[in-house]
This record gives sequence, C-alpha cells and structure tokens, in this order.
Amino acid sequence: MSVNFEKDNDGIVTLTLDMPGRSMNVLNDELSQPLAEAIGRIEGDASIKGVIVTSGKKEFLAGADIEKVFAITDPADAFKLAEDYKGFLRRLELCGRPVVAALNGTALGGGLELALACHYRIAIDDPKAQFGLPEVKLGLLPGGGGTQRLPRLIGIQPSLPLMLEGKELKASDAKNAGIIHALARDREDLLAQAKAWCLANPKPVQPWDDKKFKWPGGDAKAPANGQLWAIAPSMANAKTYGNYPAPINIMASVFDGGITDFDTGCRSESRYFANCVVSQVSKNMIGTLWFQLNAINKGSSRPEGVERSTVKKLGILGAGMMGAGIAYSSAKVGIEVVLLDTTQEAADRGKAYSSGLLDKDLKKGRLTPEGKDQFLARIKATTSYDDLKGCDLVIEAVFEDRAIKADVTRKAEAQLARTAVFASNTSTLPITGLAEASERPKNFIGLHFFSPVDKMPLVEIIVGKKTSKETLARGFDYVQQIKKTPIVVNDSRGFYTSRCFATYPMEGMTLLAEGQHPRSIEMAGLQAGMPVGPLAVQDEVSLSLSLHVLEQTRKDFAAEGKTAPEHPGVAVVEKMVKVLDRQGKKAGKGFYDYPAGGQKSLWKGLAEQFPLKEQLPQQELIDRLLYAQANEAAKCYEEGVVTAVGDTNIGSIFGWGFAPHQGGALQFINAVGVAQFVKRSKELEKRYGERFKPAKLLVKMAKEGRRFE
Ligand code: NAD
Repeated sequence: MSVNFEKDNDGIVTLTLDMPGRSMNVLNDELSQPLAEAIGRIEGDASIKGVIVTSGKKEFLAGADIEKVFAITDPADAFKLAEDYKGFLRRLELCGRPVVAALNGTALGGGLELALACHYRIAIDDPKAQFGLPEVKLGLLPGGGGTQRLPRLIGIQPSLPLMLEGKELKASDAKNAGIIHALARDREDLLAQAKAWCLANPKPVQPWDDKKFKWPGGDAKAPANGQLWAIAPSMANAKTYGNYPAPINIMASVFDGGITDFDTGCRSESRYFANCVVSQVSKNMIGTLWFQLNAINKGSSRPEGVERSTVKKLGILGAGMMGAGIAYSSAKVGIEVVLLDTTQEAADRGKAYSSGLLDKDLKKGRLTPEGKDQFLARIKATTSYDDLKGCDLVIEAVFEDRAIKADVTRKAEAQLARTAVFASNTSTLPITGLAEASERPKNFIGLHFFSPVDKMPLVEIIVGKKTSKETLARGFDYVQQIKKTPIVVNDSRGFYTSRCFATYPMEGMTLLAEGQHPRSIEMAGLQAGMPVGPLAVQDEVSLSLSLHVLEQTRKDFAAEGKTAPEHPGVAVVEKMVKVLDRQGKKAGKGFYDYPAGGQKSLWKGLAEQFPLKEQLPQQELIDRLLYAQANEAAKCYEEGVVTAVGDTNIGSIFGWGFAPHQGGALQFINAVGVAQFVKRSKELEKRYGERFKPAKLLVKMAKEGRRFE
C-alpha cells in the first residue's frame, strides 16, 4: 500500500506515505486513491482523535507525477485532476480532527500543498530539505490549492514571489516565512511534537475557514495591494515578454482568490492550472527541463561499463578568469586544487578570486571565517609543475594558443601518473589537434566551461578522435562531482555551443547591416526569449575576440587549401573593430557606450554607420534570430557533433541561453512542426541567403513525418 494507516491507543492515526518500488513519493493515482480512502476511514471513525501525515521515504512528497501532467492535452482532464486533488485535501482539513503534517524531508509542489491543507506543519530541521511551490519552473502553477492557501496564510505580497520565482526554502527559512509552524530535531521528535499538538488542539480550524478570518496584509482589493496589481503584471511582462503564461496565470489566480471565498478561489485556480498544463510552453519546458535533464543527470550520455570515479586532486594550468573559476567550483565540493600560473602573483590572483566570492557568503552569514579558511586551504597557488604530482585530472586554461597549450601539456604530463586525465578548456581549438601534444591522447579530452564558471551550470565535454570511453566517463563524473550538467559532443570547429551561439549575434549584426533599427534588433532578441539582445551579447563576448577567431578560422581553412564560409555579419565585426575601433564592452565601446559607473546605451554613431532602410515586421526579426540558431543545432545533430536530443536542447538553454520557454533549439523545431520549420526556412533562405537553408536531416524528417525524440 502507498499509504500506511496506523492508529495508536490515544486514537491518533499516522498516515505514512510510502509508495512501493519508488525512491520518492509522487502524487498520482497510486498515492491519491489510498489517501482518499484513508480520509474516508477517518471521516467515518469517531474514535479517531487526530491525524499525522508523514512519509516513509527520505523526502516527504516531491510533487505531482510530472509524466501524468505532461501527457494531458485536454484542458478538461487537467481541470479534473486539480479538482480531484483539491477535493480530498479539502475533506482532510474539514474532517473535524486535528491534522498535522510531520515533514520528515522535502515537500515541493503538490507535497507542500498537502502540508498546507493540514492544520499544523512541523519539519525536521535538515538543511537539505526544501519547501516550496516550484511549478512555475516547468510552466505550471500550483493547482492543489497552493495559490489559495499560501496567500491566505502569509499574505498576498510575500506569497507571490515564492510562486512566481518557484523559490525553494530551507526548513528554517520556511518557518521564518510563516509556512511551517515548528522545527524538529529528528523523526522521533517530529512525531512526538505532532502527536502532542493533536492532543492539545482537538478542534482546529484553518484560518480561511474561521468566520473571523482576515487576510494578512489585506485581500486583493485592499489599498495596500492596489499598487501591486497595477505594477506586477507589467513587471512580469517586462521580464518575460509574454513568453511565459504561468506567471500571469499565477497572479490572476491569486487575484481571483483574493476577491472571493476560498472554495470559489480554488475552482478558479483549477481553470488557470488547466490553461498552463495544455500550453505548448509547459510541454516544452517539462520535456526538456524535466525529462531530458533528468536523463542527463542519470548518465544517459555517460559510457556504460566504466566504474564511477571521483577526483581527489585537481591541477589547473592558467589562473586567469576561467582557471580561477574552475578552482573555486572544484574546491567548493572538497577537491584539493593546485592552481598553476607563470608567476606566483598570477597564481595568487587566481586564488584571490575564490576569496572574493567567499567573502560575499561570509557577509550574508552563509559561511563562517573557519569555513572560508578551510576552503582556501584546499587551493594551492603555485608556479611549480612538481605540485601536480598525484593529480587525477589536470585542466589547462592558459591562453588560447596552440604552442602554449602544447607546452603546458607536455610539462604537466611529465609529472602525472599514466592514468591521469588531461583536459583542455579551449573554446575554439579542435581537441584532436591539441591531443597531438600529448603522449597519451586516449586520456585527453575537452572540458569546455562557460563564464562565469561559478554561475554557469553547463560543461561541454568534447571527445577527441582518440579519447577513450574511460576518459569520457571520468570527465563526465568530474563534471557531476562539481554539480554541473555535462553534455557530450564530438570534436568540431566551435564544438556545439560556440558554433550555434555565434549564429545569434551574427544574425543580429546582419540585420544591422541591412538597415534594421538596432533597438528593434535588440528587442527582437529579447522577445524571442533570449536573455540578452544579439548586439549586447556581441559586445560582452568582445568584437575583437570574434575577429581574432574569424581570422584564425580563415587561416586554418587556407592551410587545408579551402575557403572558410563567410557570413554577412563578418563585415560588421571587421568594420566595428578595424575601422571604428569599437571592440566591445571591455573597451567601454562597442554597439553600446559604457560610461564609467553609468547605464549602457546604444551608440549614437550606429545611425550614421548603418543607415536605416525599410523596416521589417518584428516577427521577421524574431524568426531570423531563432531559426538561425535552431537550424545550426539541427546541422550539428545531423553531422554527429551532438548525438543526443536531450544534450542538444539542454546545451542550448544552459550553454548560451537559447529561449527556455521553447525547450531548447531542437524542441523549438518540434513545436513549430518540422515540416513548417522547413517551409519557413526555405522562405528565409530565398529572402536572406544560404544560411537559412534547412538542414538536410530536417527535410528528410519532414517527409517522413518525424520529430526529434
Ligand atoms: P585569461 O587570459 O584570463 O587567463 C589565462 C591565464 O593563463 C593567465 O593567467 C596567464 O598568465 C596564464 N598562462 C598563460 N600562459 C601560461 C603558461 N605557459 N603556463 C601557465 N599559465 C599560463 O584567459 P581565460 O579567459 O581564462 O581563458 C583561458 C582558456 O579558456 C582559453 O583557452 C579560452 O579560450 C578558454 N575559455 C574561455 C572562456 C571565456 O569566456 N573567457 C570560456 C570558455 C573557454
């Protein structure tokens, strides 16, 4: 049974959620049916004096069964699902006996909603346990009464950010927020407190069922909340450009609940829930950010048959921006780090980067001075290759220069055991070529981090021609050890992420050269769902760096007797750097001006340098920016640069910020419809050029009626 029913001598029933054959409890029929039956038993048995709801697993209840929600396409089914769940939660809170949620671990989404329907909530004070309503992260809203109970419990204003941002709180923070009433030391203490509360409070009433109920902070019509309703939707829209239906539905549901009674509010919530469930956005987000991400985390791209490994000692060559970030992220999980540079000052500077980040934690009270010292003691800043002895893994992050990389590879390998893995963090140089400097190319791999390393969740693992599957598995394990998401790609120019990402600023620059207004171009990027406009992001990358890469690519092609493919955006990069001396953000001038201490603004000179011509419809700009990226991702898939749909989608969102609401670059094609994507690409090709020619694979898939699975 998924719910164990146990009654003690004092008439206190403990309902223990414990789904057989699952590591976690999830909300589906398998759980809700027995729960409903248990509630029926309680309602019919006057000898029961109180109810404790707890779980037999490590977590309390992780939330709804996403698979089930994902499969729903009819809004009536979604409405019914929400109504059914709410129906028995309502019976539980109106059963006339005290009901206590004894939260032995994490309660998220439907799990927290169950707890909110209990009269009292106690949680074990375990820093790993999380409490929250994170539905918005999958394009959904809390449909089990969350948008009704939480605002009535803690107030409209404090509850909104929790639901709109899907924040997950630790037990102590949830208690401070008024969501949990009490904390317990351990399971025994938890159950003892729960029972004591039941015995001391025989007839509790939920605040919203109390005749004298007053909304904390006022209801939705209260003047104190008036401003909120005037501003919050526009603020949400300013951030999301209307791409995400869930935040607007959450606000509407809270508002509706705030001008009506509890039961009507609940009904209304089910309708908003249904709207989210059947939206293409939630399907995109769940498919990629739930199913595909979980599969990656479980090792879908990791070679089978290789034992799991952990890195104990890590060497990093080059203590610059990337090396310093990799050192921080690795020491954070307890790895001993040797951080090497050409001078002690440079190595120390790299270590000081960690110190700076730790100081921020110290200030916020998330770290003790001893914790900081222990952290820093794990990083040895040095110039001596001798210190690399005993490293399981060495990552080079020196200048992007083949000769320097070859030199440090040889010097490091001389100190390493033959089993150690050597990785390059190059962003542009093919791994197979770099591996030629290595005596053991089987142990050579690319680990491409993103900047800033401490914040960016992805590492692109690049497999060279000679990289062994053991080395790949060890690289994969290390990336997971530092709590980042690995995607696995094959060696190719620009690998996967840099190659596809480049199409975005390049298209933006092409639009500029064609005479589109720079503000429309930037807005089109944001409307497409990208985090930053294409011109702004090009400034961040630096125009001079892009020019350097372009020139290097031309040289490499020429060396092979070929000509590098040219993009119309290249002329803009060349003009900006060579003619106008505008190198990008670091130089304080690119497409934008960056006044010291002030706000950036588009450079006025753009008007003269790139005169306006007839303006295209905004949707044309948006399509060009999205299609350019998605088509390149499809080409990478076709060429075998990426081999898993999940890696391709997740890599696009986590690596270069491809519109998350689209579910990643390949899911965007799925959602448009492969045949429609091909048709539109051909139109764009005819109007704007060869680069929009749909990948051959897409044309074939369209003919066969297939999609990316
Ligand atoms: P950086 O210039 O900030 O740092 C490079 C460091 O390497 C410097 O501290 C330099 O002193 C040191 N160095 C140079 N030669 C050395 C040698 N022979 N031995 C030891 N140390 C040496 O550069 P970065 O931005 O950290 O980039 C490093 C590598 O990471 C490059 O290959 C780059 O392409 C790649 N990368 C950069 C980014 C990024 O966003 N900056 C992203 C991914 C990958």
